[in-house]
Amino acid sequence: MTYDCVIVGAGPAGSAAALYLSRAGRSVALIDRAAFPRRKACGEGIMPAGVAVLRELGVYEEAAALGRALRGVSYTTRDGRQARAAFPAGAGLAVPREDLDHLLLKRAAAAPGVSVFEKTEARAIALTAEGVRVRLADGALDARRLIAADGLASPALKALGVARRGPGKKRYGLSTRLKGIEGLGDFVEVFLLGGGELYLTPLPGAGRATAALLLESSTLTGETGGREDAFWRLARSHPALTARLARAKIDAPLIGLGPLAGAPARCEDGPWLAAGDAAGAVDPLVGDGIFLALRGGRLAAEETDAALSGAGRPGGYARRRGRMIRPKERLARFVLAMSRRPALARLAVSALRVFPSVFRALLAD
Ligand SMILES: Cc1cc2nc3c(=O)[nH]c(=O)nc-3n(C[C@H](O)[C@H](O)[C@H](O)COP(=O)(O)OP(=O)(O)OC[C@H]3O[C@@H](n4cnc5c(N)ncnc54)[C@H](O)[C@@H]3O)c2cc1C
Repeated sequence: MTYDCVIVGAGPAGSAAALYLSRAGRSVALIDRAAFPRRKACGEGIMPAGVAVLRELGVYEEAAALGRALRGVSYTTRDGRQARAAFPAGAGLAVPREDLDHLLLKRAAAAPGVSVFEKTEARAIALTAEGVRVRLADGALDARRLIAADGLASPALKALGVARRGPGKKRYGLSTRLKGIEGLGDFVEVFLLGGGELYLTPLPGAGRATAALLLESSTLTGETGGREDAFWRLARSHPALTARLARAKIDAPLIGLGPLAGAPARCEDGPWLAAGDAAGAVDPLVGDGIFLALRGGRLAAEETDAALSGAGRPGGYARRRGRMIRPKERLARFVLAMSRRPALARLAVSALRVFPSVFRALLAD
């Protein structure tokens, strides 16, 4: 059979795209090389705009039952200055990624017209007269259109011969879950380490949070001990965390990913387009990756549906995606510049304390 669309990658972008295509009455093959539930290196905080997409997809209630509401974000410098702001509209949500992604995949599998193939890796992609052929370990899938939603490294775009440019300075991410943290509230707490950041996203259960550490590669490669030692040394080096993490323990293996960010030379061409991190990722420091993947999945589905109906406009997807992602890229550049320069961080955090409305505006969609 020839599907209307094959989607490579069943993270938030791929599953959201499959759900929206199903609503449009399209047949979809959604494939992922992993067996779900699977972990993913992530801070696991979803911004309110991402929560709105979960509501739209009809999965919010179930996701909320697996997670914890988030009320806002704080930034703390090494000298103890702190700026805090509540989300201007609605709450965010913290959900373990294995739960969120599995929930979305199960919903996609139950949606009319969607066939899900787990433990199925796209090995190669060829353009055909009808659209695309995705080669698998045993056989192939044919479709009129393809959505590459296969994450930061996007083997699908590589297979299509699309080069990827990284950000100027490479950054790497590590994430884990901690228990026994003192003083957690319902804010995502970002701690500026100078050359990196650690953030804590509170999870259900007292003293539990996801911890994500974002670092420039030199910091990681300079480490001689194990990853856990390096993690604790850096995390406890922030004066505001030393006491709060004194009795904390690691509750899930550390997983890493990188280099972070980066974008392909193009995110649509002929019968394919890319969604989520595959289409270009914003530095995780601003915590918008899941929202951009979910909303990007919807954009990808809408443009794919239009193309299948003969109503697609060349470049239309890239323009819409650009409008969605540019404000987040600007915010990421600002926060990164602040994080890299301790003097600027002190100044910016002090200014955000004095003008909380500016901070709230930065957290708006
Ligand atoms: C350390 C860190 C912390 C982060 N913290 C946050 C945060 O707090 N909040 C937030 O919103 N975002 C955060 N992000 C970003 C967020 O994790 C991503 O933006 C998001 O996961 C992107 O979703 P996606 O669907 O595009 O890709 P992914 O979630 O990466 O999914 C891609 C899928 O493709 C599959 N795949 C890959 N290759 C193939 C292949 N050849 N064949 C078949 N399947 C394939 C993979 O198995 C995977 O399931 C963080 C990222 C990192 C690294």
